[in-house]
This record gives sequence, C-alpha cells and structure tokens, in this order.
Amino acid sequence: MAKSTRRTFLTVSAATLAAGVSTSGEALAAERRKPSPAPELRAILREIDPRRIEATIRKLVSFGTRHTLSVQDDPARGIGAARDWIFAELQRYAAASNGRMTVELQSFIQPVSNRIPVPTRITNVVATLRGAVTPARTYVVTGHYDSRVTDVLNATSDAPGADDDGSGVAVIMELARVLATRSPEATIVFAAVAGEEQGLYGSDHLAQSFKDAGTDIQGMFSNDIVGTGDAHDGTPADPHTVRLFVEGVPTSETPAQAAVRQSVGGENDGPSRQLGRFVDDVASNPQTGMNVRTIWRRDRYLRGSDHISFLLRGYPAGRFTEPRENFNHEHQDVRVENGVQYGDLIEFCDFAYIARVARVNAATLWTLAQAPGTPKGVVIDTTQLTNQTTLRWTANPEPDLAGYEVLWRETTAPDWTSSRFVGNVTTYTIDLSKDNVFFGVRSVDRAGNHSPAAAPQPSS
Ligand SMILES: [Zn+2]
Repeated sequence: MAKSTRRTFLTVSAATLAAGVSTSGEALAAERRKPSPAPELRAILREIDPRRIEATIRKLVSFGTRHTLSVQDDPARGIGAARDWIFAELQRYAAASNGRMTVELQSFIQPVSNRIPVPTRITNVVATLRGAVTPARTYVVTGHYDSRVTDVLNATSDAPGADDDGSGVAVIMELARVLATRSPEATIVFAAVAGEEQGLYGSDHLAQSFKDAGTDIQGMFSNDIVGTGDAHDGTPADPHTVRLFVEGVPTSETPAQAAVRQSVGGENDGPSRQLGRFVDDVASNPQTGMNVRTIWRRDRYLRGSDHISFLLRGYPAGRFTEPRENFNHEHQDVRVENGVQYGDLIEFCDFAYIARVARVNAATLWTLAQAPGTPKGVVIDTTQLTNQTTLRWTANPEPDLAGYEVLWRETTAPDWTSSRFVGNVTTYTIDLSKDNVFFGVRSVDRAGNHSPAAAPQPSS
C-alpha cells in the first residue's frame, strides 16, 4: 500500500495546525480512524470468484468477434450471440435477487456516422439492482462487450477482446452475480455496453437515457482494460495496482462555473475528483488487495472510454484500467510478426488480478450505496467580507443519517486533511477563512459510513 504517510485523513495534521485550528475540543472529534470494511462487505469481497471471471471471458472470446458491426443473428458467432448470452446470464443472477434485480436489453438504431457505415442496431445489456431505501439515488458500473482489430471497420476477423474489454464485462457480471443476493440502500446499475470502439455509442445512449429520465446518478465507473497487472513487455508486473482516471475541471463545466473557478480555484475539486478520493479511501486496503492509483486526468493520451459519456452529462465518473498497457495486445489483428504475438488473447489475462479489480469496484459501489448520498446544494456564503466561513446545504433524505462533516485542507494539499462532525444541521459557521483553505461537506450515517464530499459553490 505504501501510502500510510499520507493516510492522515481525519487525524489532526500539520495542515490543520497551520490553518489555525485549535487541537482541543471539537477539532479532535474529527479524529476518527479509517474503519475496516463491515462484515457484509467482507463477505461480498470473499465471494468474488476468479474462476467465474475466467469462465466469463472464455465464453466472450468464444464468439469469435464481438465487433459492433458483426452478425447479430448467429447463435454462435458475433456480437448478437454475445449479447444474448450476457442477457441470459444476468437474468440467471437476477433470479436470486427476490425481485430486486431486473435485466433489460436497451436497443437503438445508430444512424450512419463516424465508424458506423450503415444504420446499425446497438444493444446495451443492463441489470438494475433497485435500492431498498433511496432507490432514486443511482450508481452505474460498465464494461463494453464489443471488440475490434486493427481496422476499426473490420467486422469479420477474429477479435477476441479478452482484456479490451472482456475483462471489464467479466467484472460487471461478477459484481451483478454477487450483489444480486443483497439489498443495497441505493440503486446499482451493471451495464454491458456496445459500440464503444466505434465511438462510445452504447454508453452515450445509456447516459442520455438516464439524463432524459432525470436519474440521480451520483457516481459512474467504466472498467475498460482491467485484465492484468503484467504488461508482458519485460517491465516488472504490478499486480496489486489499478489505475483510476478522474478528471479535474468538469467536462460539463458551464461558462459561469468556469468564471468561479478562474476566480477562486476549484480545478481540483470537481465531483469526479471527489469520487476519486472516495474510491481511494474505501477500496485501497488489504481486503481488496489493491492500491488504487488515482490519475488526475480524464483518460490516457489519445484514448477514451464510456465514463466520458457520463461526464458529458454532468455525472461524476471515472475509469478503471490496468497499470501499464501492452499496445500490441489492443486493437490488433491476431498475428505473429517478427516473433512478436499481437492480439487481445486470453493468455495475457490474469484472472486473480481481474477479481481484485472487481473487489475494488465492489468495495466502492457497496460503500457508496450503503452510505448516505453526496450532499446537494452546498454553498459557501459570500455575501460579506469576513474571516469566518458559513456553509449551507440541503438536507439528505436517508432515515439513518447521523449528520454532516465539514472537511478542509490547505489549497496546496491533494486530499482532505481535516474534518469536523457538525451534527444534523444544514448550515455551519467555522472560524477559518474561506480564502485560505478548500472546504467540502459530506454526509455520515449512524454506522459511520460517509458519502463522497461535495465542494461548495459561492452563494449570494
Ligand atoms: Zn476498451
């Protein structure tokens, strides 16, 4: 883990002292150790099975190609066969959910567009596990089941797509299987999307459908190329690291939001960054066996994934991916050239690694769903010049809410260093200047689960 030096979260740190806060009294109420996962989460993590993940990827590869433009009515080959198999499997998992999980095929016709030469039916396979307490609050996890070779329009050559993105589909299916038997407080959506390689078309449709329905998505994760910690390129393997790409300045930023940011900062406090801090907090631990290496970028150079479809609509989102890629194994015709094996073959996948990535996702999604939602309407009072700071927010709906924590850090610090539990209130004034630190607010339930933080916007 090697992160213990900066895991001073919720302890009274040097930064707190520098910010002029007394270490006596209520500031010390912030001193709370990071809890270890609750028994139910530990059971979930144990049930995630690398053999199931291996079987899923082998099945996906067996369809030959899963190219978005490939045949849709052959029961054995092509993306249609993959779609039908994923649908049947998810329905089988849902049968154990006591009616909580429903599975649907979400189809649409993509008109002729870049990388779509003829109108093409694209289908997402979507399993929804309805929340028991606050079902409107929703978290989404995706993998894309389409695959490709060197020529992005080649719909017939074998495109095994074991890592890209059989691995991500196996993650979301294993999560659906294990979580179907449980009853989360908020809703979790597990989606195998298509059309990713042609231009994120499936996730674009999925995200727009949520937007049109007014769905309150408080976090979304794309699992794309999560197949191995070993790049097979002679560099040392890194089997206990997964990268999480999270943007800073929101893709959906409006000119008014940009004006605030250019004035008082906040480029490191967008909702996706807050989500990234949350993931690191709850999923980098011995129970997942993983270190989440957060990368403060929307994605890698020249690349993208399905989280961008959600970022475009203002939803907080990030992308999980393996620590170092081997580009000979991605988007390549399967072939040997000068003794080098090209192609996205299953022999390069590490199923134990993929299971650990699934555990990172499970710890994240389960904790998000059991914790109260991210506070909404968080504002910082800017009606007068004062060296105190007044924060306001709207009340959370969860019945087991204990209250809220105000978080803060030096403007140069990467992660929250200080917090104060302020009770079940919707406004709080703290004796710290808003000009000197960054603030956040998060909700806490009676079991001690906390939400991601929300950064305040200035209010008049
Ligand atoms: Zn991919």
